[in-house]
Amino acid sequence: MSIKDEDVQRMSQALKSGAKLTSEVCPVCSSPIFEIKGELWCLKCNKKVVKVRENSEVVDAMLPYTLNNLSAVVVEKIEQLSGLLLRLTELSDIKNMADTLSALLSVLSQSESLKEKLRK
Ligand SMILES: [Zn+2]
Repeated sequence: MSIKDEDVQRMSQALKSGAKLTSEVCPVCSSPIFEIKGELWCLKCNKKVVKVRENSEVVDAMLPYTLNNLSAVVVEKIEQLSGLLLRLTELSDIKNMADTLSALLSVLSQSESLKEKLRK
């Protein structure tokens, strides 16, 4: 890629009028991204840049933690519902509760198997 004189001029003009140079680069042309009035712009493409959060490192680091939390919440919920199940007498209520517990158990098992996969 090459930055032309007119691009440089546009960028320095932007800086003069209050735009801020960010550490981001344009995903299309790799030129520096400017922040203008809270929006990110590539002045070479002359387009607004929408930042997509796809930092896979962050996701990788967060996922085990999130799954741990999820499992803990689901286990707690299952425990609460089990206590409730004990007191239910209506067959339809018991059936509903069983369905709910089954759904929770499948969430738990998915969460656990995902955690297992991440460990490998
Ligand atoms: Zn660009």
